Amino acid sequence: MSSTFQSSLVDTFQRPVDYVRIAVTSRCNLRCSYCMSEAHQESTDAHSQLSKQEIVTIIKVLATLGVTKVRFTGGEPLLRMDIVELVREAKKIAGIKTVNLTTNGLLLDSFLPALVDAGLDAINFSIDTLDRERYHTITRRDEYRRVRDNLDNLLATAVIPTKLNVVLMRDINSDEILRFVDLTREHAVTVRFLELQPFDDHQIWRTGKFFSADKIQELLKSNYSGLQTIRGHSTQYFSYVLPDHKGSIAIIPAFTRNFCSQCNKIRITSDGKIISCLYEQKGLKLLPLLRSNASHESISDLFRKAVSLKPLDGKHSAKDTGRTSMSEIGG
Ligand code: SAM
Ligand code: SF4
Repeated sequence: MSSTFQSSLVDTFQRPVDYVRIAVTSRCNLRCSYCMSEAHQESTDAHSQLSKQEIVTIIKVLATLGVTKVRFTGGEPLLRMDIVELVREAKKIAGIKTVNLTTNGLLLDSFLPALVDAGLDAINFSIDTLDRERYHTITRRDEYRRVRDNLDNLLATAVIPTKLNVVLMRDINSDEILRFVDLTREHAVTVRFLELQPFDDHQIWRTGKFFSADKIQELLKSNYSGLQTIRGHSTQYFSYVLPDHKGSIAIIPAFTRNFCSQCNKIRITSDGKIISCLYEQKGLKLLPLLRSNASHESISDLFRKAVSLKPLDGKHSAKDTGRTSMSEIGG
């Protein structure tokens, strides 16, 4: 590690933090029922949102603290007109190894070549159904055609490593698992089935739609005799390949399993708060520091404080999730 790097971020339980997820906007062009209500209030006050320069400063400071991995998310990150510049700037920062994006893909046709040119490393594309009517019902917007065209183009051109995020819900899209797996036959894509988490603006979490990782695994095993387990990324608790399929399959048991012991991330909200745990509610306010020309050292200190607040087991220590929507923190 270069001598410009200060001591790395390590929390009270000896977990190193080298990954930041930045929600670059709270706005969204969809209204997924498991994420936000139709009436979800988005900040219309541009001044309360992080500027490009502020985001770049955050990444620069974090890079000196040993963070190597950045993910831009939201809300919908492609609603930010400067998203390409953000990727380009982030890629230039010494110490940053990967810059990834999580998107609903609706606007990808306008941005893909420029994002690739800017050096984006990988895309997580969120799509929960391959049926137009259902897409409309789940997202409350009739945008399936454009999203599907963008997905098909992404898979056909294979210009960038791609993972699909599919949130599974009983009797809503749980019968589409095999259709999604089918995409891995011809394309080098990872299809990731996600468990629903209780951040849905009180819409469907309590309505019995939860579909567990165990059920997904059972279904995969009973349908594919050639299913082979592979070693996946830490949160991809179950990862598989199938003979003759170019892609892979993963299950993210975000609710039924606990990944706290391997947690290496912090999150930044679009209004500039540092969130040290998914289940934490308030966060530490970074925006005032950024807007008062605070020194690199005082911004570093706030990050160190945030990391020192990371709980050993966030899910079980949280009294109530409190969080109404994943869009505040970007998943
Ligand atoms: N708008 C972008 C998108 O949808 O990809 C980025 C933000 S979105 C909050 C990030 C990820 O969180 C998406 O893959 C979405 O499916 C997932 N997500 C949102 N709410 C969720 C919930 N209640 N449970 C599980 N995953 C959720
Ligand atoms: Fe928007 Fe993503 Fe939330 Fe869907 S999951 S409403 S696309 S932020």
